[in-house]
Amino acid sequence: MIPFLDLQAAHQEIRAEISDAVARVIDSGWYVLGDEVATFEEEYAAFCNASHCISVANGLDALHLALRAMNVGIGDEVIVPSNTYIATWLAVSQCGATPVPVEPDPQTFNINPALVESAITYRTKVIIPVHLYGQSADMHSILQIAGRHNLRVLDDAAQAHGARYKGLRIGAIGDVTAWSFYPGKNLGALGDGGAITTNNATLADELRALRNYGSRKKYINDTLGWNSRLDAIQAAVLRVKLRHLEGWNSRRVAIAAGYLTELADSALTLPLVPSWSDPVWHLFVVRSSNRDALQQRLAASGIDTLIHYPVPPHRQKAYAGLGIENDAFPVANQMSDEVLSLPIGPHMTEHQLAHVVSSIKDCAR
Ligand SMILES: *Cc1c(COP(=O)(O)O)cnc(C)c1O
Repeated sequence: MIPFLDLQAAHQEIRAEISDAVARVIDSGWYVLGDEVATFEEEYAAFCNASHCISVANGLDALHLALRAMNVGIGDEVIVPSNTYIATWLAVSQCGATPVPVEPDPQTFNINPALVESAITYRTKVIIPVHLYGQSADMHSILQIAGRHNLRVLDDAAQAHGARYKGLRIGAIGDVTAWSFYPGKNLGALGDGGAITTNNATLADELRALRNYGSRKKYINDTLGWNSRLDAIQAAVLRVKLRHLEGWNSRRVAIAAGYLTELADSALTLPLVPSWSDPVWHLFVVRSSNRDALQQRLAASGIDTLIHYPVPPHRQKAYAGLGIENDAFPVANQMSDEVLSLPIGPHMTEHQLAHVVSSIKDCAR
């Protein structure tokens, strides 16, 4: 059996370090926010070349609170990709604002900048590019459009820890960057976690208050805030894993390079990597017009694959209220019919890679 992602193998590799870190927190007697969390925030900000990191309870909260800090509210519109995970849209809805979908480039899977401008109205406040599957969106084009229309850019980097755009790490390229540390992400906690990074000191200060009951000083509440804080135990785990992130990302890069070479003349459509992009391959997503049959045949060979994502947000019952026709976003719909995520992760072996490749080639025979 080849698992889609082997989290247990990851844990085995760093078991002793994790145990020491967790024990240190338990012994400290301080479990929410505090020094361990502040230290993680400093280390993660430095990793991202960002001036500030504000940790929160999960990735959805990171997106939601970032929008709140930028005063997004009822009646506002926010541009989102039509093919993202639903959390990107939900953050907008939680503010009382309306998500306005824009189609992706089917080769990179990321929002198509050429289509963004025509989606902008006088209500638009923010553009949310998503660095989907671990590859940076085309930030320069998006920032130029945002500049022309006086909009802010919040990038959803939940799948892109360590990814680079034009050699620069994601994290302070847009106005604010939102992160998730859900266990299966490239940098994942042993539970939920999230963060926002930014170079904007005013937004950082507002976010520190918003995540903690709107409070900057204990029992003094400046705004109507939320409770969205990171546990010290998760911060300690993340500090250990951050030290392994680059090594683990480079193993993903090696697996992806193997897939790209070995599957180059298969019937599959492979992901395109623009020259300015250094992806961290959170997922390795191929396209096939025969996707469901391929998935079944790989399962029969003991290979676990997943679909990211089978139903785009505009076709979810949760978004029926927007009144968007099912066929309104044909590229997102086509992606949902054709995409297949192959196994990838730092603990996948060359032997496993060879088995996936040969099984895919067998399917074409
Ligand atoms: C995982 C993910 C999120 C949400 O993160 P959670 O920590 O699960 O709330 C948001 N956006 C994208 C693109 C994601 O992959």
